[in-house]
Amino acid sequence: MAVQTNKTTLNKYLELEQPDGKVMAEYLWIDGSGEGIRSKCRTLNFIPKSPKDCPIWNFDGSSTAQAEGSNSDMYLHPCAIFRDPFRGGENRLILCDVYKYNNKPAETNKRHTCADVMEKAKEHKPWFGIEQEYSLLDYDSYPLGWPKNGYPGPQGPYYCGVGANRVHGRDIVEAHYRACLYAGVDICGCNAEVMPAQWEFQVGPTEGIAMGDHLWVARYILHRVAEDFGVVVTLDPKPMTGDWNGAGAHTNYSTKAMRETGGLAVIEEAIEKLSKHHVRHIKAYDPNEGKDNERRLTGLHETSSIHDFSAGVANRGASIRIPRQVAEDGYGYLEDRRPSSNCDPYAVTEVIIRTTILE
Ligand code: ADP
Ligand code: MN
Ligand code: MN
Ligand code: MN
Repeated sequence: MAVQTNKTTLNKYLELEQPDGKVMAEYLWIDGSGEGIRSKCRTLNFIPKSPKDCPIWNFDGSSTAQAEGSNSDMYLHPCAIFRDPFRGGENRLILCDVYKYNNKPAETNKRHTCADVMEKAKEHKPWFGIEQEYSLLDYDSYPLGWPKNGYPGPQGPYYCGVGANRVHGRDIVEAHYRACLYAGVDICGCNAEVMPAQWEFQVGPTEGIAMGDHLWVARYILHRVAEDFGVVVTLDPKPMTGDWNGAGAHTNYSTKAMRETGGLAVIEEAIEKLSKHHVRHIKAYDPNEGKDNERRLTGLHETSSIHDFSAGVANRGASIRIPRQVAEDGYGYLEDRRPSSNCDPYAVTEVIIRTTILE
């Protein structure tokens, strides 16, 4: 059972006025799993305007699978600021990347090299849009709303569904969307997914390094909102085996040239380059170098096989899909359908830029 405290009692304290100039700053970072998010809070005596205003901080890396106990101090370098939708007011969420005792980026710090690559490619104005699929679980790790000791009816009525027998957990989806807008995350849509209790939200189009920043903060907000409702979020790419869809993080991508007249030819060139680096991309598309995605990319349930590269217009069984509208307009973007729901968006966007622009 999830421990549920009384929110009415909590509100008594939250109504206390917060002194002017005192900001609660929640520092966020990615832990040693490459998938989990941790956070801790401190007071700032000023309102930070940019990440550079925020002090570098530290944490115990031996408790997050990021360091040995004997040399456990790790550094948090603030890199993006959002409004805090949980505390409101002048309080802030401070996204950080992690450095070791010797000031080298931690193994799970994928932002460091991604930022480098985005800087080199900036004149191409790369835009990304990620479709984050996820599943809601009850406290017993079984999908939310599924009959205990059984299964719901087969997939079909649930995608974009309406009604208490079709969707589970919409309160969380609604609360998350509003909280993201408040925070300043570029959320652009959401929908119920094919498997009951599975949902998706989209972030984008977002340029360069900001894609990863916004998606990580959107994920943090999702975990926190679900926590308030006593529900668990999983980004596992295949939470239920059998005839149930998995969860991905389709990554939509364009450069300035792709978005202009004649852009389809540029999109096709990029696909040609992507076709030569399938294995490298699969390795970058989940935190376990393809092991997680192996369960999802079977060639069934609207996925391509993990072993083959394919591309096609409007083809949801391909690695890369060119949306029908893009083929008709002759410009736009491509969709890489391979990234796993638990991917690190910094690693995904970095390898896409390396393959299609820098090499
Ligand atoms: P799907 O039809 O695959 O379900 P969605 O509507 O869920 O597509 O998501 C589309 C995504 O594509 C959004 O994240 C959006 O921001 C992104 N997108 C739209 N235009 C562009 C573009 N020109 N470049 C990159 N991403 C884009
Ligand atoms: Mn979608
Ligand atoms: Mn989807
Ligand atoms: Mn998609």
